[in-house]
Amino acid sequence: MEKIAVIGAGTMGNGIAHTFAQFGYPVFLVDVSEASLEKGLATIVKNLDRQVAKAQITEDQKAETLARITAKTQIDETLADVVLVIEAASENFEIKASVFKQLDAVCNPSCILASNTSSISITRIASVTKRPDKVIGMHFMNPVPVMKLVEVINGYSTSSKTSERVMDISKSLSKIPVLVNDYPGFVANKILMPMINEAIITLNEGVAGVAEIDTVMKLGMAHPMGPLQLADFIGLDICLSILRVLQDGFGNPKYAPSPLLVNMVTAGHLGVKSGIGFYDYSAGTKDVVVAKQFAG
Ligand code: NAD
Repeated sequence: MEKIAVIGAGTMGNGIAHTFAQFGYPVFLVDVSEASLEKGLATIVKNLDRQVAKAQITEDQKAETLARITAKTQIDETLADVVLVIEAASENFEIKASVFKQLDAVCNPSCILASNTSSISITRIASVTKRPDKVIGMHFMNPVPVMKLVEVINGYSTSSKTSERVMDISKSLSKIPVLVNDYPGFVANKILMPMINEAIITLNEGVAGVAEIDTVMKLGMAHPMGPLQLADFIGLDICLSILRVLQDGFGNPKYAPSPLLVNMVTAGHLGVKSGIGFYDYSAGTKDVVVAKQFAG
């Protein structure tokens, strides 16, 4: 089976490595931080155990999956013969530019370089390499082993050969890839973030409270989670930074983030990861406990 590499072993990177390894690909998992690598590998073991407990895979498949993953702290010539790299390092253009330059130098010229970025332009990332026709977005959803969608993003110079190959590889992981064009927010966040922002504006205008807004959207639109709870799970800082990308990219005031969202991020109320956002998670449960009232 052809080898692949994943750069970044955080929330997304360990899930991407897990998924490729489960479907038979030998995987190099690279992170600059030893601690992140260890944490990422421990998360993969925990998630494989869960799959075994649910009888989705056997103990043998778990062992084979783990044996296919090689953890590393450096991008070097051991990556020379991988056919695809998925970069899932921190959402920062300078970091991604440095990673893509290193990959461009060590990987075979035929290797496809993909980014899992939520919001940075694929065309901009491709511009730092000598192979922009082989640079593409592969936007997996969290949690990667569970979520079916891969938003595949064609940069301005991405060749159809590259996108066809990435669509095929995504299908080999039992995912459903959807091909879209490079545009601020792509499709997923161009639609999701204005909806979340509108929910926050609605709350701030006093139209309804947190629980009421989420209940209307859950029961009325058959969404599994209301927009405010979803914002807490994504991280309010991430929501704000994606809204800024939309605002800058389109120059349209309709993408201006709600002042309430800005205030909450400034105050460190980032959602689940900080223990409080629109809901209070301090009791240590991932179930929602109390919705703090903001309306008025
Ligand atoms: P994260 O912070 O959990 O992990 C990022 C990892 O990158 C860290 O372990 C960090 O040590 C590592 N890293 C930083 N610089 C590096 C470098 N130069 N080389 C190698 N590793 C490096 O972040 P995440 O949530 O996994 O997000 C990763 C990417 O996926 C981002 O571009 C993000 O926008 C995107 N994304 C995130 C989600 C999500 O729900 N978390 C969903 C879709 C896409």
